[in-house]
Amino acid sequence: MNTQADRYVIPPPPQAAIAVAATSRLFPVRRIWCVGRNYIEHIREMGQDERAPPFFFAKPADAIVPDGGTVPYPPLTKDMHHEVELVVALKGGGLRIKPERALDFVYGYAVGIDLTRRDLQIASREVKRPWEIGKAFDASAPCGPLRPASEIGHPSKGRIRLSVNGEVRQDGDLNQMIWNVPDTIAKLSEQVALAAGDIIMTGTPSGVAATVPGDRIECEVDGVGKLTVTIAPPL
Ligand code: MN
Repeated sequence: MNTQADRYVIPPPPQAAIAVAATSRLFPVRRIWCVGRNYIEHIREMGQDERAPPFFFAKPADAIVPDGGTVPYPPLTKDMHHEVELVVALKGGGLRIKPERALDFVYGYAVGIDLTRRDLQIASREVKRPWEIGKAFDASAPCGPLRPASEIGHPSKGRIRLSVNGEVRQDGDLNQMIWNVPDTIAKLSEQVALAAGDIIMTGTPSGVAATVPGDRIECEVDGVGKLTVTIAPPL
């Protein structure tokens, strides 16, 4: 017998996905790409070179946490930081996409958090090791509901905010991005063939700081949406 069920030697993992706002439908996530440094004030607060071009790193697709979800405080770190970011979801892609065509491949937008084990990220950077231990851990990519570009257009300005327990920590504007969304898609597509299901976290404004178990984190991007997550004790 050769059924779909016995095609795989173990059950295939669940498809990672993000809710589409105001529907019961889901956007399937293939890969999560992140822009390293894309707001000048954040580059300054991290003490980095302002003239260096942004760069990319990745998280596993199953690091997505939905709106209203819980993030268990991750292992090994004593300094997990929040980074609120505009998330771009792609419905198509390819290699060497021109900036003028890049928005044709955007399905929609959401607000997300690039959670970061800052102490481990900095330690790995200092010994010239990869960033996965600092960036690509379980539940490290909370992401709110997607709003289709067909409804909201392509936001290039508007406030991007994050508060913890009601206190504003990050408050920037999308117009402070050094590389805008079309440039970011174009640059990333020079490195890899982008495809439907890929999402890009586009970098964070200043104000990154530590978050601890019990924190309620609320994020909003004007015209895009909101995201609320709670940090829970370690598993
Ligand atoms: Mn980030």
